[in-house]
Amino acid sequence: MLFENKVSLVTGASQGIGEAISWELGREGATLVLVDVQKDKLEALASRMAEAGIKAYPFEADVTNSSRVFEVVEQAIQQLKKIDHLINNAGITRDTILLRMKEEDWDLVLNVNLKGAFNFSRAVLKHMFSARYGRIVNIASVVGLMGNFGQTNYAASKAGLIGFSKSLAREVAGRGITVNCVAPGYISTPMTEKLPEEVKKAFLNIIPMQRFGTPEEVARVVKFLCSEDASYITGQVISVNGGMYM
Ligand code: NDP
Repeated sequence: MLFENKVSLVTGASQGIGEAISWELGREGATLVLVDVQKDKLEALASRMAEAGIKAYPFEADVTNSSRVFEVVEQAIQQLKKIDHLINNAGITRDTILLRMKEEDWDLVLNVNLKGAFNFSRAVLKHMFSARYGRIVNIASVVGLMGNFGQTNYAASKAGLIGFSKSLAREVAGRGITVNCVAPGYISTPMTEKLPEEVKKAFLNIIPMQRFGTPEEVARVVKFLCSEDASYITGQVISVNGGMYM
């Protein structure tokens, strides 16, 4: 197993891509610290994982709340002694064209998608620093690379996350810590399920592989980036998008 004796913290873990990442790392022996705003779903996931023989600790937390984030990290460290992998996955959309976008839609998306990663990275880093080891994987998006109609807030948050990751990668590389992004294309999850049929069709038309991706296809790349096989990879953006953007 790849991650025996490793501890992985995943945000937005209760469904979709975050859930798939949690299972992927857990099946390789990692102990999971599961973070999400959805308490019931999180606890249900932790018990399903326990039944499958995976140690998982659920923490209800909003990634935008920096004092709660520090609390979660300190509690996890007290219980598990370390955090080897941090997966900043929690993300939201509030889509509309800029002319109609409310200030709160801008602030909320930037806060969850970008400040959430800042909050968790800052809280976890000091422990990774003393361990002189760590893997941070930030879930960006194809939209952060190519832009998208009706998603100025989301695209800015994901492009920001890429700049954040490259800068942090430079700051911590000498301490044995890598920081990378995975940029998914269109992945079938509860987030994309709610999109109108015509939007889904339009996406399908621009995906050379002519299908949507699965959460597991993203999770396997995260697993690789957390593994020793990726020991010399940092500051990179790995696209998982069926060729949608090259
Ligand atoms: P989902 O909406 O299915 O899952 C995201 C989870 O994060 C939900 O449980 C959500 O709760 C939770 N969450 C939202 N806000 C917070 C918060 N403030 N604090 C803690 N948890 C929170 O999304 P996906 O699985 O589709 O997406 C996961 C990541 O991948 C996101 O960052 C997304 O931007 C990115 N991505 C997704 C793509 C896709 O096609 N699905 C494509 C490219 C990138 P709640 O449901 O209550 O909001």
